[in-house]
Amino acid sequence: MARSATIERSAQMTDVEAAVARIDDVMLDARRDLDALVRIESISASPERVDDVEASAQATSAMLSRYGLENVRIASADGSLPYVIGEWMHAPGAPTVLLYAHHDVQPPGVVERWSSPPFEPVERGGRLYGRGSADDKAGAVAHAAAVAAWLRSGQALPCNVRVLVEGEEEISSPHLAAFLAQYADELRSDVLLLADAENWRVGVPGLTYSLRGIGGIDVRLRALDGPVHSGMAGGAVPDPVMALAKVLASLNDDRGSIAVDGFCDDVSTPSPAERDALAALAGEEEEFRRAMGVRPGVSLVGDPAVTVWERLWLRPALTITGIDGHPIDGASNQIVAAAGARISVRMAPGQDPHRAMQRLRAHIEARVPWGLECEITEFATPAPAWQCTPEGWAFDATKRALRAAFGTEPVVMGVGGSIPFVGPFADAFGGIPALLLGPGDPTSAIHGEDESLHLGDWRKLVEAEVRLLAELSAARS
Ligand SMILES: [Zn+2]
Repeated sequence: MARSATIERSAQMTDVEAAVARIDDVMLDARRDLDALVRIESISASPERVDDVEASAQATSAMLSRYGLENVRIASADGSLPYVIGEWMHAPGAPTVLLYAHHDVQPPGVVERWSSPPFEPVERGGRLYGRGSADDKAGAVAHAAAVAAWLRSGQALPCNVRVLVEGEEEISSPHLAAFLAQYADELRSDVLLLADAENWRVGVPGLTYSLRGIGGIDVRLRALDGPVHSGMAGGAVPDPVMALAKVLASLNDDRGSIAVDGFCDDVSTPSPAERDALAALAGEEEEFRRAMGVRPGVSLVGDPAVTVWERLWLRPALTITGIDGHPIDGASNQIVAAAGARISVRMAPGQDPHRAMQRLRAHIEARVPWGLECEITEFATPAPAWQCTPEGWAFDATKRALRAAFGTEPVVMGVGGSIPFVGPFADAFGGIPALLLGPGDPTSAIHGEDESLHLGDWRKLVEAEVRLLAELSAARS
């Protein structure tokens, strides 16, 4: 059996160009499917959108079946939002690759700041605009398209493939452990391939080896039963917004580094080799400023002794993502009764997420002025950072596939964002290699207004996946 499987797979290797030749045709369908998915408002953070998340799972499931995947179904565990799973398991002796993406999206943010409606896919200048266009509906469709390119070329896939498209990634995968436990047999794989990361920049592929972890709390400070007149009370009665500002200001030092007692104690120190790799990217910092749209006189924050990449990928960060007091519009001369802030946490490699969240809570509680009531609630399940050593057969295969599809060397990079799925999944199957590719680029405005996908790079991602299936099969035969 081993011998015939080997012969069959090496024959397929030689036909990878036939599969690649089908991609342009497949992309016509893929684009229609991506447009249809972007129109579905599958916002996992909004309880009132639960039907849309369900509709998005249904559309994803129908797409996977149409593209040739088998046993496609919607699955959930412990009340989770719907995941979609499917498979193609007819390559005996070849490795099994799990293709991961997610079909849920972030809320649109400020709708008025979008150049076109967030849930209406619009193409401008070679990019597709719309919420989820890059993160991560393009990833789900890319996986399906890569499978379809092989099957439409009249060939079997060179690897066994399982597909998992999650429905609650954007709320930090709260049911992940239950899901992995319940569906272990359906998910068991030798390699994990994600299409939820980013390219280095347009035209230059990225291979991600490091992700930050995540956590988050809401802090509410209350001073009064209800709002009171700022003339009658101001100067004696404490202002909750001022109190909140003092607490928030204490979280960072003057250069913008985290100043929370003990928070950074367990952050890993990068190895000399890692530091060298980061230093080699130093010339790219101006490009980063441009991609982020940092205004000309504004400086970057954090420890100037380390590269901006180390600050982004290997150090933690705190961000205030929401704040409540009273909107300026309609404000009257009153002291509000309470104020609140949402603090988003990005964990660095090495950090114990529960310890970090405890330190953050303790820091805040110790700094609430004037005896205000303080309520702290967690809105995101804490998850640790993930890192791997990007070496070995699967990474070598990925670098070859990316080089062939993009015509240039991939950049081995970290990402400041978080994909809580990666670490637990890789661990659940004995530390299998996790290959993180992505449809996004630094100008994709992931989670922001005017999120967009570079359509040329999206096609290259599909080609890289088509080639990677052949490369993984050959590397293991
Ligand atoms: Zn994502």
